[in-house]
Amino acid sequence: MEQKIDFRSDTVTKPTAGMLDAMMNAKVGDDVYGEDETVHALETKLASMFQMEAGLFCPSGTMTNQIAIKCFTQPMDEVICDQTAHVYRYEGGGIAYNSLASVRLLYGERGILTPELIEPEINEENIHYPRTSLVVLENTVNKGGGKCYTLEQIEAVHNLCNIKGLKLHLDGARLFNALVATGDKAALYGHFFDGISICLSKGLGAPVGSVLLGSNEMIKQARRLRKVLGGGMRQAGFLAAAGIYALDHHVDRLAQDHQHAKALANALENVNYVEKVMSPETNIVLFDVASRYKAVEVVRALGRKGILCNATSAKTIRLVTHLDVSAAMIEQTIEVIGKLEV
Ligand SMILES: *Cc1c(COP(=O)(O)O)cnc(C)c1O
Repeated sequence: MEQKIDFRSDTVTKPTAGMLDAMMNAKVGDDVYGEDETVHALETKLASMFQMEAGLFCPSGTMTNQIAIKCFTQPMDEVICDQTAHVYRYEGGGIAYNSLASVRLLYGERGILTPELIEPEINEENIHYPRTSLVVLENTVNKGGGKCYTLEQIEAVHNLCNIKGLKLHLDGARLFNALVATGDKAALYGHFFDGISICLSKGLGAPVGSVLLGSNEMIKQARRLRKVLGGGMRQAGFLAAAGIYALDHHVDRLAQDHQHAKALANALENVNYVEKVMSPETNIVLFDVASRYKAVEVVRALGRKGILCNATSAKTIRLVTHLDVSAAMIEQTIEVIGKLEV
């Protein structure tokens, strides 16, 4: 059986030998008692990297996002986000369930929100309207094919939120991909957001976990909410150690994943079963199949050649590059793409 090449998501990576070693040697304690020094080190490391006051290690990015939304809203409030946002589409209706808030969906270009899009959707004070209290951005934009915000775009949204008294949260599941692609400094992000969620289990290659960053006061509330949701973990330092290792060893190499995505996109531009390829900025390639095909047919044909990927709509397919896809695998995939019979 030939080896599969797995482009379904950057969550499929397995810990490297170095990472496993770091995990095995972690100093741990009961983190619910605040006694796990490795969890504490991870939270502090990310907080200081982003110049935010505090961090909270959680089991998933869904939990960090949902806790942040709960911290930044009251029941009956309204949250503004893009219609493609993970917090809206892929968190199981959590905004309604956890925060009792409604959602106002905007239609950004590749999921990018601007003050021009946001401002008209902020409700004025009126008993008929839900109170707008929070804007959520996503960077990179997953459904936007790994699209990055510029720092100017973020600053503009931040300024509007400041004037209007809105909180601003960042779903930064793939924020390090954005930082590597744009060259922007992590420290500047802390200034623009009230909350930032970062996944360790995506491109960074850790097996489990996300970290929520915010003010001391917000993280204190978030810690309580994590407990309520059943996310208080005991000797979690074994997992936090993987996160620390990832931050030390797996950030710069994301540039390689981005190059790999570009190479795949180039190959896809030149075959007749592809209609168009969304130009990749980071590690996600989205492409539409030609009108006579269904996306699932092309996914199946690739699957028969050992290339795993997902259809994200009737016409669209997503390929995600990551730590466990080597340069040789990219070459092999490009060869398959060129010869594929659907
Ligand atoms: C993966 C992801 C998350 C968090 O997902 P979990 O599987 O809950 O860790 C949040 N936002 C985006 C954009 C994601 O891609």
